Amino acid sequence: MTDTAAQVRGDSGPEVAALVAAQVLDVPDFPKPGIVFKDLTPLFADGRAFREVVDGIVAHYGADSFDVVAGIEARGFVLAAAIAYATGTGVVPIRKAGKLPRDTFSASYALEYGEATLEVHRDAFGAGQRVLVVDDVLATGGTAGAALDLVERAGGTISGFTVVMELGFLEGRKRLMSRTVHALLTV
Ligand code: AMP
Repeated sequence: MTDTAAQVRGDSGPEVAALVAAQVLDVPDFPKPGIVFKDLTPLFADGRAFREVVDGIVAHYGADSFDVVAGIEARGFVLAAAIAYATGTGVVPIRKAGKLPRDTFSASYALEYGEATLEVHRDAFGAGQRVLVVDDVLATGGTAGAALDLVERAGGTISGFTVVMELGFLEGRKRLMSRTVHALLTV
């Protein structure tokens, strides 16, 4: 284990947590004063690290535990597509308001920096289809809560919720209470 690995934690162990930690850029005061934005684009751009992240998520759940991957707009799409490809499953987009062309369910919620609405197509999932929901960052948990509710309203069964990075001090897990969260890195 490296020195860095000893100092970081995550639900798939310190090695992958350290790999993520080494690639995250903190951007102060974005998109608003007082918010430290966790920029994962360097991690996504690094082929080896990106593969380890995707493989880490797949290993945690097992390729047979879900039928489809739902990605939360927009950075969740990047991860969802890769996980789906790696497991031979499909992708469903959970989008911001007004982007999906057909009938949707929608849910509004408060963000760490503002308010937002998410939508999913009403017919996105077959009855009882097992859905892995994925996003880049878990902050207050509002986004995840809305996304998970939408999946269930559309007929899906939640297999899991996974993020690359969790901001533990914002207590998103507490807000999600009954949901199980998997985070590769918790800070
Ligand atoms: P929340 O609903 O507060 O858990 O916010 C999570 C959503 O907002 C995710 O889709 C993240 O991409 C984004 N987000 C919130 N806070 C941050 C942050 N500090 N850095 C990067 N993304 C964030």
